[in-house]
Amino acid sequence: MPEEDEEIVAAVVAVKIPSYVLETRLGDCRRAAGIRREALRRITGREMDGLPLDGFDYASILGQCCELPVGYVQLPVGVAGPLLLDSRRHYVPMATTEGCLVASTNRGFKAIAESGGASSVVLKDGMTRAPAVRFPSARRAAELKGFLENPANFDTLATVFNRSSRFGRLQGVKCAMAGRNLYMRFTCSTGDAMGMNMVSKGVQNVLDYLQDDFPDMDVISISGNFCSDKKSAAINWIEGRGKSVVCEAVIKEEVVKKVLKTNVQALVELNVIKNLAGSAVAGALGGFNAHASNIVTAIFIATGQDPAQNVESSQCMTMLEAINDGKDLHISVTMPSIEVGTVGGGTQLASQSACLDLLGVKGANRESPGSNARLLATVVAGAVLAGELSLISAQAAGHLVQSHMKYNRSSRDMSKAAEEADRPKKC
Ligand code: NAP
Repeated sequence: MPEEDEEIVAAVVAVKIPSYVLETRLGDCRRAAGIRREALRRITGREMDGLPLDGFDYASILGQCCELPVGYVQLPVGVAGPLLLDSRRHYVPMATTEGCLVASTNRGFKAIAESGGASSVVLKDGMTRAPAVRFPSARRAAELKGFLENPANFDTLATVFNRSSRFGRLQGVKCAMAGRNLYMRFTCSTGDAMGMNMVSKGVQNVLDYLQDDFPDMDVISISGNFCSDKKSAAINWIEGRGKSVVCEAVIKEEVVKKVLKTNVQALVELNVIKNLAGSAVAGALGGFNAHASNIVTAIFIATGQDPAQNVESSQCMTMLEAINDGKDLHISVTMPSIEVGTVGGGTQLASQSACLDLLGVKGANRESPGSNARLLATVVAGAVLAGELSLISAQAAGHLVQSHMKYNRSSRDMSKAAEEADRPKKC
């Protein structure tokens, strides 16, 4: 290490230079990360040898994605596919360390493709933010509620809200009260962005505007949890947040037998007992599925989404029905709160951007803003459909434990996993 850097490391260790100023002071993000890492090593006595330092563009995360970097965690990315969805083929990147997950999703894709494909519909597309304000009395809080919910005031509110973005467009406001506290849930379209910053800026514009006519309004927080971001909440389950998507497919009897190694009746029965009744017994909130969050999280991490939003994005009801005189299987996933974007946040980083590119949804869609993010949401739902199909089938056929024991514990060539997951009876 150069003498000059030695001095800086010593100063960081002695807390004479705060670690967080290194990037600004040095003007070299890689050097700052290296110095911080060395200072950490001296303070803790831990080498962290397995955490790489080189091979990452630290400038790309500065001021946007991560503070105080000392390296980066490596995650394998598997690709399942093709997913035949709405007559298009997608190869879906999944970042995970859970053995079986990519192979199992891949098996679901195969069953869907051999049955003619899946189709999806986006029911709603709007991000929400709900500030909490307090008034001297419940009566005053109710006056603002009445003002916000009066259709005659919508155009004025929208003009104020829309000022801060070319893409954030107010769709509506829904209010709830708790005593003299008012919670205003603003919903807006966000183009190809997931939209949290966008909606927050629009809401701030409105709060500033309202202060003139409601000077006794005390803004407690720009986010009052009625939004509701990164927390399990019925409001998202019922009203939706981000993209509300339904995806469905008809799986042919022979495919259920040949690819999924089970039968339609067993799948339908298991779904009722496990995903519907079992989840009801557990008091689930949006958890009427087998493992939607597995697929959602793996795709979120691969494509640079905010992984904490898997909480609401994984809300899903999986429905299975026997159709065509009980021969074929109708499967659907209903996911009201898929929060994804193709611009902003982690989506612009090199690895994540490459994964978005694989799906053909990298960056902003210039012809039709918002269509890249909506397509990504439908791919998430399509992959969840496949994941549900495969896991429920494995459980119906009693293969789950053997399969996990094999792929999670084995040190042999994992490239065989996908191939063998197609033949679960051998697991
Ligand atoms: P953002 O990066 O803040 O905003 C998107 C930017 O892209 C805007 O400047 C927008 O232009 C521009 N843009 C260009 N083409 C676009 C297109 N076709 N569609 C949409 N935007 C386009 O992104 P965001 O999604 O609003 O916020 C994401 C960030 O919020 C993430 O880093 C996430 O971690 C963070 N986050 C924030 C909160 C919070 O409470 N604030 C909560 C959770 C997550 P305009 O300037 O014209 O809008």
